[in-house]
Amino acid sequence: MSNKSHIVARFPPSPTGPFHIGNARTALFNYFFVKKNGGKLLFRLEDTDRERSKQEYADDIVSGLQWLGIDIDFSHPYRQSAHSATYKKYLEQLIADGKAYVSKEEVKEAGQRAKVIRLKNPGKKVTFTDMIRGDITVDTAELGDFVIAKSVDEPIYHFAVVVDDFEMGVTHVIRGEDGIYNTPRQILIQEAIGAPRPVYAHMPFILNADRSKLSKRQAGELVSVKYYREKGYLPEAVVNYLAFLGWNPGTTREVMSVEEIISRFDITKVQKAGAIFNPEKLLWYNKEYMNRLSPMEIDKEIKKRFPKNCQNDLMIEKLSEIIVERISVWSDIDKMVADGDIQYFFEQPKFSQEMLVWKKGGTAAEARENLVLVSEKLAALADADFDAERLKSALMPLAEEKGRGNVLWPLRVALSGREKSPDPFVLLAIFGKKESLARIAAALALLK
Ligand code: GLU
Repeated sequence: MSNKSHIVARFPPSPTGPFHIGNARTALFNYFFVKKNGGKLLFRLEDTDRERSKQEYADDIVSGLQWLGIDIDFSHPYRQSAHSATYKKYLEQLIADGKAYVSKEEVKEAGQRAKVIRLKNPGKKVTFTDMIRGDITVDTAELGDFVIAKSVDEPIYHFAVVVDDFEMGVTHVIRGEDGIYNTPRQILIQEAIGAPRPVYAHMPFILNADRSKLSKRQAGELVSVKYYREKGYLPEAVVNYLAFLGWNPGTTREVMSVEEIISRFDITKVQKAGAIFNPEKLLWYNKEYMNRLSPMEIDKEIKKRFPKNCQNDLMIEKLSEIIVERISVWSDIDKMVADGDIQYFFEQPKFSQEMLVWKKGGTAAEARENLVLVSEKLAALADADFDAERLKSALMPLAEEKGRGNVLWPLRVALSGREKSPDPFVLLAIFGKKESLARIAAALALLK
């Protein structure tokens, strides 16, 4: 990243829960913004809530950001918990300057009495620029002398944020729309400590279908980034989907690489209204991105997910196309394995005589007779003819003559041992002449 630029943005999550998809979008928009404008994105852990902050959440956030491809430095994150002395210094200075004061004992929650530190509020109108919403003016008089700390050792959240942003040299604050409400008091604190005012952008929320804020209660595990990682979504698809949630580059094209998103990104074009989260659309994106993968990338993922006894590279290569057709996320491969849709490609399947008989009125005798005929036809073909289209032309006349169900059902079961599988021509092509004939022979042995 260039040093010429003065743009410094930040992503300051609180590690008090699993990485939320809405926060991921905020992080991405910060990332697009700095990449587009040649700035820097800083990472800060707002971990002052000691009871709720957990290292495992911080790890989940960092690995989620890395998974999304946000290539910034996470090695020495700025942790609020390590900066108590800094907040104290600013608080003492404000008190010394007469800009803040320690109140008399006040009745606090639960009837407790304690002193607090309040900012002397000049009580004026504050206007700030929001890159998404334009100028916003708020009369701060009604805030009164608001609390900025419980004591010099316990700043409240707004105070810490303002000090941190100042210390870190933050010039652009891009955050969720809930921040709008906090901005006027944060500006008053900035002015009191002599910090320059950053430029703001408050991003619209991601919404449930009923337009309420996307919540775990309604959307369940779909709100966490981890869900998508574990299900085997492609991060590029998630990034593309989230980028277009509330923003678009003014083209009708929906699939766009992160490089192109960055080059076209314009934060002033982000919509003000919330955007409804649509899991089906995200799945659609994932499928689009899967369809663009090279056979090598697909085979690698399949290999990783197949059990030990299904590691034949040649077979995996043959299967990859039919697998990709049937899945939307990588973990669908695990499901296919678990459902028994994979094993039979690698070893002779088990089936009963009963399974081989066409359910709608076939008999064992017919199954046997037809499998013999199919066998003869296949034996007459060359290895090179074991191609789904050619096999279909070779066998369909027989199937039409003897009844499709009575020919194709026993054949498919002989090859797969399954009630559901790809059609028999595809299976024959995958197995080739020798293996196909062997499987049919095994079925015939059972039909005697
Ligand atoms: N820690 C806050 C959050 O996770 C960040 C607020 C801000 O960006 O100022 O929502």
